[in-house]
Amino acid sequence: MQATNHFSRAANYTGRFAPSPTGPLHMGSLVAAMASYLDAQAQHGHWLVRIEDLDFDRNVPGADQQILHSLQRCGMQWDGEVVWQSRRQALYATALQQLGTQVYPCACSRKEIADSLLRSGATTGTAASQIYPGTCRHGLAAGKTPRAWRLRVPDGDAAVFRFTDRLCGPQVQNLATEVGDFVLKRADGFWAYQLAVVVDDAAQGMTHVVRGADLLDSTARQMYLQQLLGLPVPRYLHVPVVTNADGEKLSKQTGALAFDRGDNDLLHEALIPAARFLGLIIGDNITTIPAFWHAAISAWQRKLAQAGQQADPQLTSHGSG
Ligand SMILES: [Zn+2]
Repeated sequence: MQATNHFSRAANYTGRFAPSPTGPLHMGSLVAAMASYLDAQAQHGHWLVRIEDLDFDRNVPGADQQILHSLQRCGMQWDGEVVWQSRRQALYATALQQLGTQVYPCACSRKEIADSLLRSGATTGTAASQIYPGTCRHGLAAGKTPRAWRLRVPDGDAAVFRFTDRLCGPQVQNLATEVGDFVLKRADGFWAYQLAVVVDDAAQGMTHVVRGADLLDSTARQMYLQQLLGLPVPRYLHVPVVTNADGEKLSKQTGALAFDRGDNDLLHEALIPAARFLGLIIGDNITTIPAFWHAAISAWQRKLAQAGQQADPQLTSHGSG
């Protein structure tokens, strides 16, 4: 057992890496894991791993264990017990109930939503084409069966969510005009990512969320859920996502390969390239994984310092008011 990561650490930082077990880790997921790990280490915090396995159609048997094994081979030891979302569904059901009449059943198929947007003149291919038109907001049409459960988003000023991302800076999103009423329980019966992530981040005491920039757009939805459920809002930091030659985010669907082939040189083939993707300056003199982490933690601290006062003021300006 490693003696380094234990709960004698500062209690004012808890972060996490939350992979989906749809396949082995690829470079894109390593970058996200590394950023969250470095941020937790740099602030002497706890770093937890949560397996986001709620999409039973996409889970690959054994991928969770493979992911955990790859993290360990990379020298990334998590604190506490790993959590599986599939074992926590009672918590999501309780949260859905707590939301009461803010949540309503929706009977629309994808096609009906698309058709309705076409009729209303929303141009396809723009963000507006993704916004739910509110068809079932005031009740289901006669003879319709509920498929999904949606959360009513607020109107007017209450729909505008602002936050300062620690790396990307100030963000603003209007949930009414840019997102629309969003799904909390899907037509296939699975819990939606937005609800599960908010419930678990609060239940696990997350103070800091560090993840890929593809989730930047989800943050306002999560803040709205935190507000409705009376949960604390963590600090957010989003790192760039790794894309392939076609500009697509690396994923199993876009053919991303596992970086861990069991016996390869993870230091040079995975860790150093991932750190450099994050813009960290890592010298060529690094020859061991522990030396890599030592250098990378310092480089991460320098990167955040350069990003200005987007490092967490709560943790860096003690006593300055
Ligand atoms: Zn509907």
